[in-house]
Amino acid sequence: MQDTMLSLIVPVYNEEEVLETSFRRMDEVMRNIGYDYEIIYVNDGSRDGSMRILRNIARDNPQVKVRSFSRNFGHQLAVTCGMDAARGDALIIIDVDLQDPPEVIEEMVRAWENGADIAYGQRVKRQGETFMKKFTAACYYRLLKSMSAAPIPLDTGDFRLIDRRVADVFLKMREHNRFLRGMSAWMGFEAVPIEFVRNERFAGKTKYTLKKMLRLAMDGIVNFSDRPLTLCGYFGAGVAALSLVAFFVFVILAICSVKVFGLLWGFFGLALLHGIGFLFLGIQGAYMNRMYDELKNRPLYIVAEDINF
Ligand code: UDP
Ligand code: MG
Repeated sequence: MQDTMLSLIVPVYNEEEVLETSFRRMDEVMRNIGYDYEIIYVNDGSRDGSMRILRNIARDNPQVKVRSFSRNFGHQLAVTCGMDAARGDALIIIDVDLQDPPEVIEEMVRAWENGADIAYGQRVKRQGETFMKKFTAACYYRLLKSMSAAPIPLDTGDFRLIDRRVADVFLKMREHNRFLRGMSAWMGFEAVPIEFVRNERFAGKTKYTLKKMLRLAMDGIVNFSDRPLTLCGYFGAGVAALSLVAFFVFVILAICSVKVFGLLWGFFGLALLHGIGFLFLGIQGAYMNRMYDELKNRPLYIVAEDINF
């Protein structure tokens, strides 16, 4: 059917080493699927030659559109911008670095043709990533799943196909601190996993710094679970109850004139409780911070340049 259109959404941040190869592979896959398609690159404030390469690609390929941010807003917002701009009947989100193999898109499209609203890539294996990254990711996904009210599938990134109907619902959610895979799970609909082996980055280094990764990890938990807040409350109640018991024990010991532990224990206990207190303040701060962001209600991202739109 020629009037069906697919939109491929590709966030780009300092990816000059991978862009050309990545475009050729993705374009070939899209062409072979047989539907009309557009490839939307969102340049997330790259400071290298990415924009020059994107201009060249867009000049020779009218199916390529480029939307460029005024600065780096982060991967989740770049993807959101691409979704805002997409006109397709199905939207596909993929990383530019070829870690998500473009060939898997075809399987996703077949699942969509068979009625899936969402077809998400599930990593059965990750190649070329450090043990630490794999280990922390595996732990994190499991922790998130155990805490979250939305059923967020394990070992799943943002590589997925989303039907237009679902995308329209998604685009109504204008929250600022975005954790797309959680929002996708929260919406429901029929989501089908497509298993794939996550490749090594084709070239260049990860653009997800530790800071960005931690921020995303916190967004996942804070935006999809109130468990940390509840746990703080339970813990506080537990400690209060314990201190009350301890108080009576001390009174009784004092009445019986028994000498109680040295000062050191007191200091230790105090420091520990203080530490925990600050930790809990931090947890509450994480929720408050995000509330403040929502209140300010600034635009999610700022576009500085459009090509082929
Ligand atoms: N990315 C982005 N903005 C950022 C960081 C990353 O648009 O601030 C893009 C990046 O160009 C890539 C995708 O997001 O297409 C995933 O980033 P990366 O491959 O560096 O993350 P990793 O796979 O190492 O987790
Ligand atoms: Mg990557």
